[in-house]
Amino acid sequence: NTQLKSTVTYDEVFRGVQGKQVLDRLRLDGKVAYVTGAGQGIGRAFAHALGEAGTKVAIIDMDKGKAENVAHELTLKGISSMAVAADISKPEDVQKMIDDIVSKWGTIHIACNNAGINKNSASEDTSLEEWDQTFNINLRGTFMCCQAAGRVMLKQGYGKIINTASMASLIVPHPQKQLSYNTSKAGVVKLTQTLGTEWIDRGVRVNCISPGIVDTPLIHSESLEPLVQRWLSDIPAGRLAQVTDLQAAVVYLASDASDYMTGHNLVIEGGQSLW
Ligand code: NAD
Repeated sequence: NTQLKSTVTYDEVFRGVQGKQVLDRLRLDGKVAYVTGAGQGIGRAFAHALGEAGTKVAIIDMDKGKAENVAHELTLKGISSMAVAADISKPEDVQKMIDDIVSKWGTIHIACNNAGINKNSASEDTSLEEWDQTFNINLRGTFMCCQAAGRVMLKQGYGKIINTASMASLIVPHPQKQLSYNTSKAGVVKLTQTLGTEWIDRGVRVNCISPGIVDTPLIHSESLEPLVQRWLSDIPAGRLAQVTDLQAAVVYLASDASDYMTGHNLVIEGGQSLW
């Protein structure tokens, strides 16, 4: 299987052969990417990073206005983009978003399944409604996106899927009360492990990124905002993550430079999960 062959030989690394240098292998020119939840926060930053590295980018968000704004930002940078309004918890929306991208740009090489929500209630008070809503978006929605994009990628024998999990998949961040969130994100890690190992011999890599606490609109919600000061003392790096701390990671996982990595969880949390 040619997809399993390395794109660079041992000797070429040291001879400066055109296209075989490390920064060349991080370039994504000519690739087609999408990012879900790209209307703000981490997804918006991922979309900019992928576009700057050379991809066309479809901006997916359930909020149409936000998706259009980010698509416009990319256009201003000279990056080809399209905005698609889709709720990734709805199977018909997921299929339509994939079909829209394929019909405009012919295929999908990079799928960034990032949309997610966070609920914060004591476990004994967690309603089934909250549980279902969280799982429908964070885990079932991520699965549906992986499957729909994966079918396109398996057919062409090439693809990179990057899911957004969370540090909360590994530890129980204190003092947040987010049972449904933590367990859904642990599911995203296992989904990634399973798909990543199942599809690699057909050219499709699946990895995830687990951010720590990132300064985005999500953490400035009414329930999380009061915790921000408290979290700072839990982070060895002494500050929250900024979205820029995550951007190079998504480019790496989207590129052929990460071809030998699949099913893994790249943790970027200022050391918080180790303390
Ligand atoms: P955010 O709330 O700032 O942005 C999320 C975006 O996703 C919004 O534009 C929203 O409209 C969109 N969205 C929500 N549900 C959707 C759905 N069903 N379909 C389509 N779009 C939807 O969030 P963020 O901080 O940028 O987080 C992005 C991802 O990163 C999430 O999966 C989140 O769980 C994860 N994460 C965030 C942090 C953090 O501290 N901010 C930490 C770890 C992981």
